[in-house]
Amino acid sequence: NSISAIPVRHNVNNDFADVRLIHSKRVRRILVTGGAGFLGSHLCERLLNAGHTVTCLDNFSTGLERNIRHLRNFEGFNVIKHDVIDPIDIEVDEIYNLACPASPPHYQADPVHTMKTCVLGALNTLDLAVRTGARIFQASTSEIYGDPLVHPQVESYWGNVNSFGPRSCYDEGKRSAETLFFDFHKGHGVEVKIGRIFNTYGPNMRPDDGRVVSNFIVQALRGQDITVYGDGSQTRSFCFVSDLIEGFQQLMAADASFIGPVNLGNPVEFTVLELAELVIKLTGSRSKTVRNPLPTDDPRQRRPDISLAQHRLGWKPVVPLATGLEKTISYFDRLLTEETHEFAE
Ligand code: NAD
Ligand code: UDP
Repeated sequence: NSISAIPVRHNVNNDFADVRLIHSKRVRRILVTGGAGFLGSHLCERLLNAGHTVTCLDNFSTGLERNIRHLRNFEGFNVIKHDVIDPIDIEVDEIYNLACPASPPHYQADPVHTMKTCVLGALNTLDLAVRTGARIFQASTSEIYGDPLVHPQVESYWGNVNSFGPRSCYDEGKRSAETLFFDFHKGHGVEVKIGRIFNTYGPNMRPDDGRVVSNFIVQALRGQDITVYGDGSQTRSFCFVSDLIEGFQQLMAADASFIGPVNLGNPVEFTVLELAELVIKLTGSRSKTVRNPLPTDDPRQRRPDISLAQHRLGWKPVVPLATGLEKTISYFDRLLTEETHEFAE
């Protein structure tokens, strides 16, 4: 049920090109689950630019065809519409398992399916790794730490997670997935890589994604109230997408003995209110902040300790928040203008 397999014309976007890979590594067949989503679409683009063959497998629940439309120009880009809760059988050399809704309103909309996606998605991709011998990356999350009592968060911290709250389907699903990855490594010798991703933002997020950066930018551009949940003193540390994707690739390319889990995120911490003020300033918006109730179990603070990634991978983010926000604002500005024109036609 492949819905596209269109031959190459040219590389349409070289933003993420990594020519070193083209020259130093063999071309690999790479599966990206969740490849039509925010992070997945950037990863597919980066891997295609490096000369690899990429299969994007996605059920298009939160992913968008628009995110991968331009990638159809690449040779060896395939899209398979499929749900990771069902077994997958294709020939691959490498797997990135990203399929899972990541925004709280989206993953809470069908919590049982979110849990299935995390657990059965991990099982099905790991089974595929066993059969093909592929190395496999798991998109884990800072939610592993729950509402953390250790700050900043280090990988050795076991976390503070509610097992039956509104966030649990995601947090516990991702924790179970880590367990499966470790057990397949120990039991079947699968080469696994586990990256714990902290809040990441950038182009290709949906305007209705529901996460804080896209909400604030879209509200500011539309001149709507900026919805701060709680008093806005809770903190997050925001990583721009290009930095994160670089981290994925460095982890995947690292020695097989380095499996993680490893924190991947930007360690510069902001309050939600500071983020709102920065978005208002950068958009030049007249929007005002309003207070909405703080969601249940919303983590109070979050900041990655990235010493392990720095030490083992030589990786650290380089894009400051204001720079990343400007790129993201331009993206949404274009998108919202296009949407307005579509409605007017
Ligand atoms: P996203 O919602 O934009 O992308 C998720 C993609 O997975 C979408 O294309 C969606 O259609 C697809 N998908 C969801 N369930 C599926 C299923 N059952 N079968 C097949 N496809 C399915 O989210 P994102 O921000 O790109 O996140 C990608 C991955 O990274 C997720 O696993 C998420 O948990 C993880 N992550 C992201 C962040 C972040 O800040 N962006 C932080 C921590 C972890
Ligand atoms: N948040 C907010 N307004 C919004 C969306 C989110 O104040 O419109 C807050 C949310 O309560 C949380 C932080 O921003 O404290 C980050 O939320 P997000 O959903 O982006 O990610 P997560 O909570 O999973 O880190």
